[in-house]
Amino acid sequence: MSTQTITVHLPDGAIREVPSGTTPLEIANSVSPRLAAASVAARLTPVSTAATGVQISAPNGQSEAAMYAAEDAAAPRLVDLSAPLTASTRLELVTEKDPDALKVLRHSSAHVLATAVLELFPEAKLGHGPATESGFFYDFYREKPFTTEDLAAIEKKMAEVVARDEKFVREYEPREQALAEFDRDGDFMKTHFVTKFTAPGDQVSFYRNGKFVDFCRGPHVPSTGRVKAFKVTNLAGAYWLGDEKNPQLQRIYGTAFFSKKEMDEHFARLEEAARRDHRVLGKQLDLFSIQDLAGAGLIFWHPKGGIIRKVMEDWMREECLRRGYQLVYTPHVARVNLWQTSGHEGFYAANMFTPMELDDAMYRMKPMNCPFHILIYKNSPKSYRDLPARYAELGNVYRYERSGTMHGLLRVRGFTQDDAHIFCMPSQIESEVSACIDFAEAVLKTFGFSEFKVELSTWDLNDRAHYAGSDENWNLAIQSLGNVLKAKGIEYKTMPGEAVFYGPKIDVKLVDVLGRLWQLSTVQFDFNLPARFELEYIGEDGERHQPVMVHRALFGSVERFFGVLIEHYAGAFPLWLAPVQVGLVPISERHAPYAQKVEAELKAAGLRVEVDARNEKMNAKIRDFALQKTPYILVFGDKEESAGRVNVRTRGKTEQTSMPLATFIAKAKELVAIQSTEL
Ligand SMILES: [Zn+2]
Ligand SMILES: [Zn+2]
Repeated sequence: MSTQTITVHLPDGAIREVPSGTTPLEIANSVSPRLAAASVAARLTPVSTAATGVQISAPNGQSEAAMYAAEDAAAPRLVDLSAPLTASTRLELVTEKDPDALKVLRHSSAHVLATAVLELFPEAKLGHGPATESGFFYDFYREKPFTTEDLAAIEKKMAEVVARDEKFVREYEPREQALAEFDRDGDFMKTHFVTKFTAPGDQVSFYRNGKFVDFCRGPHVPSTGRVKAFKVTNLAGAYWLGDEKNPQLQRIYGTAFFSKKEMDEHFARLEEAARRDHRVLGKQLDLFSIQDLAGAGLIFWHPKGGIIRKVMEDWMREECLRRGYQLVYTPHVARVNLWQTSGHEGFYAANMFTPMELDDAMYRMKPMNCPFHILIYKNSPKSYRDLPARYAELGNVYRYERSGTMHGLLRVRGFTQDDAHIFCMPSQIESEVSACIDFAEAVLKTFGFSEFKVELSTWDLNDRAHYAGSDENWNLAIQSLGNVLKAKGIEYKTMPGEAVFYGPKIDVKLVDVLGRLWQLSTVQFDFNLPARFELEYIGEDGERHQPVMVHRALFGSVERFFGVLIEHYAGAFPLWLAPVQVGLVPISERHAPYAQKVEAELKAAGLRVEVDARNEKMNAKIRDFALQKTPYILVFGDKEESAGRVNVRTRGKTEQTSMPLATFIAKAKELVAIQSTEL
């Protein structure tokens, strides 16, 4: 053991000189035993590269390379509390509150799961067991499929492993010895991982808890006892290495938390999300469908979904006109030549429907509207006085998604973008982007979302070939977008490598009522298409110049936005969006004439009304409207009729109010006019 001294920088600025080989746990204990007890792992950042205040995340738990490849000592990384420190470093103790702690816990839970499986089914062969977004899984190979009873037994056995509170101990073995042992035991998956992710002569890292040993580089929680709340959730099949010619593995999923309370909240959230599933509500409220005969990922808007779409689109078009956009309409297909000029044939072909041959040329469905708006711009000479030219369209686009990847309204093959392209002078870029961001905020606010997150997607300098355009333009564009966000005081996260091929972009992700993030609005910069199409305007100087172009979509996709709205409101839409705003319940058949009068007055006021004139019990009619989440149900009989009143039941409220029909109409009209989210 070396007696060399190393320097450890703590987050509060304190610097400790300690002997090399000191562990994070020892340092934690010297700060406070309580901190040591609360810690799960440690985050090390090399002193040379650390920028203070930068939050470094653990490597993505799902990537195999992240799980097995050797650690990069120059990069920030998570380590065990018991890992000996051998070089000077910044050290941050990762406690249970740290988001990375949960990943470490969940990966450790995967080891607990594998421990339990091998104790019950020693013949099972181990694949791997990473943490995921919401839990963990472990892949096993076993000829006999696991049953539901097996899963219950595994969960019970896991509790024993946790109760034994076995320490996770890191061990090393020469690679050749490890491979020989795995080979001997028929552990073909472990042989694969070791061969792929280590080099001859390496020491291979293992983690042991009790008798269980797994090839792994960690980090892990100190012991199995730290897995305080866990659940085995489900079982799925997966082919080894994703190849259907390979043996089929059984993937056991589970989740884990630091407390039972957090786990209960997690399952309550899942239940709530299931209750709000737009595919279920879409059927229940008769909003839309996907038809097997027509094909996957193609949306049929039913009358009730259709009216909501009309309201959304009307609002959007009005707002576009008010904000200086011009409305255009363009075709759904175009000759392949156009896609060659635009570059989509080169950069985007994999996302497009395959070409179709007509008598004069090859055609393709449009995956984007941009080239069409460009052709409109290019159709007549433009001067600086015409700029900015803002063309907006609710344009249908078609993109190829692999079969099996479609998901309700959220992932489809045909959708409608509320798309616009702004052609402007370089001097107008920042004010145009700024106006787009204002517009995006107005969309979110109007449709009832108060919280959003912003990302600035830039290019990946290591993957230069993937991006069109000059370095100079890219840098200018990235800077302009950043300037706008800074000037607006909007906090944002920079996402390197997330830009589209033609330019950087700002993405606005809304946060729904369950705290889930949804990518919707996007404002993208483009120097590339104006160059490819040789766009021009005559400047004030009388010379020809090239305009720049901004692509922006605010709903993003009308279909997707609708899906998010359904889930956000759980189908109980605000009055202005509700397909049927007012349900009318005449108490008996003799009130039919009064029902007609009420209906006519509501319709004349622009409200969407449905009368339930069936010869049914009043309560049955009320219940049916309530199941359709109708905002207002008006009930009336002799008493109401003679007084010209209605009895109003408001969705979500128990009390009923009697009021003159005129009063109700005035109130409802006002709520619609201000797009109120309250009733
Ligand atoms: Zn592990
Ligand atoms: Zn575009």
